[in-house]
Amino acid sequence: MDGELCRMCGGDGRVGNALGGSSATCPSCHGSGRRAEASYGFHDVTKTKPSHHRPAVAVSTGPKAPTTPEGAQLASEVSASAVLAADAKARLLAEIMNHESTHGRCTKTFIKKVRKQTRLGQ
Ligand SMILES: [Zn+2]
Repeated sequence: MDGELCRMCGGDGRVGNALGGSSATCPSCHGSGRRAEASYGFHDVTKTKPSHHRPAVAVSTGPKAPTTPEGAQLASEVSASAVLAADAKARLLAEIMNHESTHGRCTKTFIKKVRKQTRLGQ
C-alpha cells in the first residue's frame, strides 16, 4: 500500500479544517484515501497496476535513437526528467522511437502526452 496513499490526507480520505476543527472530504482523493495520479486522459487510475500496464513497444528492434528533431528534443526532456524512474525513461524513449517509425515524425499530441509524463508530480 505504500505509495498508494493520498498525499494530501495521508490515506484517511479526510482533511482537517484548521478553523472549525471539523473535517471535510479530501479534495485530492474524494474520500477514497488512495492517491490520484495527475493524469487527465485515464479513467479509474487507482485500479491500474503496473503489471497490467506493460508497454506493447518492441524495445529491441528499430533505431536506437530518435531520428527527428522533435523526437530528439523530446528524448532529451525525458532523460532530464526528475520525476521519471530509469525504466520509465527507457519505456518513453522506446515509445518515441516507435512513434516516429509509425508516423514518420512526432505528432503534437504525442509530444504533449510524453511531456506531461516528464512533469508528473510537479
Ligand atoms: Zn485524500
